Amino acid sequence: MDDLQFGKRNKRGDWAPDGPIAYAPLFQFPPRLRALLAWLPHYFLPWNAIFAVSAVAYWAWIVPPVETMQAIGLGWVAWLYAVNALAVFLFYGAFELHLYVLRRQENRFKYNGKFPSEQRSKAFWFESQNIDNILRTFLSGVTIWTGVEVVMLWAYANGYAPWLSFAENPWVLAGIALVVPIIHEFHFFCVHRLIHTPFLYKWVHSVHHNSVNPSPWSSLSMHPIEHLLYFGSAFYHLILPSNPVIMLYQLHVAGFGAIPGHVGFDKIEVGADRLVDSHAYAHYLHHKYFEVNYGDATIPLDKWFGTWHDGSPEAEARMQERYRKRKERLAARKARLEAKEATAKGATK
Ligand SMILES: [Zn+2]
Ligand SMILES: [Zn+2]
Repeated sequence: MDDLQFGKRNKRGDWAPDGPIAYAPLFQFPPRLRALLAWLPHYFLPWNAIFAVSAVAYWAWIVPPVETMQAIGLGWVAWLYAVNALAVFLFYGAFELHLYVLRRQENRFKYNGKFPSEQRSKAFWFESQNIDNILRTFLSGVTIWTGVEVVMLWAYANGYAPWLSFAENPWVLAGIALVVPIIHEFHFFCVHRLIHTPFLYKWVHSVHHNSVNPSPWSSLSMHPIEHLLYFGSAFYHLILPSNPVIMLYQLHVAGFGAIPGHVGFDKIEVGADRLVDSHAYAHYLHHKYFEVNYGDATIPLDKWFGTWHDGSPEAEARMQERYRKRKERLAARKARLEAKEATAKGATK
């Protein structure tokens, strides 16, 4: 597959798509019905459909009976951790193996021409992005994911969360299931913007940003506080009229859904002539430039707040202008403070 039909590669070997990233035509006024219908299949296929199916499979085969979950017990909690860990190992591992270990696609459609294993960095545990990322994924990532899952299932089992049945409320539940990815993006934008404030960035979110060139294992490589905030999207179902299966879907959109955004490739080749979009470019640019694209391209939150970067030269210029203005503001504040100090000194003399 010739990736230069879809984009260009610079001297460093970094590939970028030709056109700018487009927002989903969801929040446009007046609505563009034809564009909306053309976009709709991408909302489900393949990613969200995979996470919905995995949630149903969990409910059918993994989650213990309701009576068991009325009390927190080590047995079923450990079982859920083991299944989540195995699922992450297989799902994340499949992308890692295919794209980064066997390099079946070489660097076709790869945003960053380099592979993380070729670069050692002191920012990581054992100076290795992969070892660092894998340890953080299983030590705190899967643990906190499981913890949130256990709390929510326990709440359902004890009647602390509104549990509607599919037989009696099919339309309400279909509506809630439909907006799960939108809830995820809204929640992710809010917590993500919050942890980019200087104090929380320094102590919490910088861990995730150590991976400037993200790869599959970077997806859940976060500080434990970020894991808790990130998986906190499940807690919306404590107040929404929902169902445990939909809550699991919400968790899977967060847990497994972090993969497409960090896969590092714009398209994944399937067979000889099929391509699957990762929709990862917006978040790749976030890892590259830090202060753009706090959300993804479904809800235009970044556009509304002036932090959207669609990959175009115009967006690049807007970002540079924003940085320049901030630099000016900071310099002016510093000068004001220094002037104040100087007058204070003068007065005490
Ligand atoms: Zn990320
Ligand atoms: Zn960030």
